[in-house]
Amino acid sequence: MLCADKIEARSVEEMYINIDPIQAGGRLTPEAQKAVIAYSDGYSVCDNCMKPFRLDYIKKPPLADFHEDCAKWLNMGAVRVVPGARRGFQAVANTLVDKGDPVILTALSHYTEFVSVEQSGGVPFEIPKDDNNHITGENAAQKIDEVIKEQKKTPSLLYLDHADYQFGNIHDVEGIVKAAHSYDIPVLLNGAYTVGVMPVDGKKLGVDFIVGSGHKSMAAPAPSGIVASTDEYAGRVFRTTQAKGDVTGRTFGIKEVEMMGCTLMGVTMAGLVASFPSVKKRVENWDTEVSHSRMVADALCSIDGTECLSDMPREHTLTRVNTVGSFDKVAQTHKKRGYFFSGELKKKGVCGVIAGSTRVWKYNTFGLSERQINYLCDTFREIAENNGLTVNR
Ligand SMILES: *Cc1c(COP(=O)(O)O)cnc(C)c1O
Repeated sequence: MLCADKIEARSVEEMYINIDPIQAGGRLTPEAQKAVIAYSDGYSVCDNCMKPFRLDYIKKPPLADFHEDCAKWLNMGAVRVVPGARRGFQAVANTLVDKGDPVILTALSHYTEFVSVEQSGGVPFEIPKDDNNHITGENAAQKIDEVIKEQKKTPSLLYLDHADYQFGNIHDVEGIVKAAHSYDIPVLLNGAYTVGVMPVDGKKLGVDFIVGSGHKSMAAPAPSGIVASTDEYAGRVFRTTQAKGDVTGRTFGIKEVEMMGCTLMGVTMAGLVASFPSVKKRVENWDTEVSHSRMVADALCSIDGTECLSDMPREHTLTRVNTVGSFDKVAQTHKKRGYFFSGELKKKGVCGVIAGSTRVWKYNTFGLSERQINYLCDTFREIAENNGLTVNR
């Protein structure tokens, strides 16, 4: 079936159990699917935009309410929507980081954080991870101390990934915030893998900013996301434009500089808002998601030669495994080489594992039903046994 010439209808989510690490939390809810069809046209959410003409004031559809509810939900002062978590990093970095400023990231930071530092002219420094692939308060304090001594300047911002994209480990946010704040460094919590899938309380964590990804973890279309600020920083990061035309004398009211006025004016906004009630509900089921993740990690680890590289027991649904001693051994002599694994998974209705990879790979079990989880566990074990590997049942 074709949508248009050469554009096939996508049916991945209908046809498969999709364990793609970046896609699990961004699957749309049925409500969002309806909203995106209704709001598919360009500037569709602008039908009822009235004075003072800004996205977060629109009452119909209820965008103003969304902004307020989302801030409350994250226990932060104010929220704005952005086209992706990366644009949230960009807004904060452009506001707080001056050319030549040191900025603290971590050994597990996402590339988009680095790029946002680069755009602002800042100089990145990484907190190293410890032997357990964790970022600790102690290592944060030590790195900050080192950077201040060497750069003779206090870093203007610290980025911390709540759950990192490499291991899906949950890091000691409170400990790291304590270290950063003792040097008066504001902390941006990167919740790309947490906001929308598990409970996040900004005040409790003590962070200054929270960035979330709509298409990664809030069941929204791409590109979408949120940036939340405490009241203390909201006036700076959400400052309004002072620009004035020299010929016309025009000024531009309350448009915000970092938001370029307005951000998500159509389908992305509609999808994000439509999914929000179920997103708020689903984070309360995080314990179930974690127990599902543990079932799958245990099943994989029951295959001889398989090692889980993420924290065990799992505390998140994103997991990195090393199957060099199991599926990769099979690949050495298999006529399809490494493609046997993703191929057999696909035949059994599982997709999302990178084709050809049998060494170190990631998967995400978020959103699967108990039945799908059991099927997934059985499928991994079956493929192992069918290829001569030992499974310790
Ligand atoms: C996916 C991801 C991002 C980028 O998110 P976008 O919403 O696509 O900009 C940033 N950080 C981490 C840790 C991620 O996993």
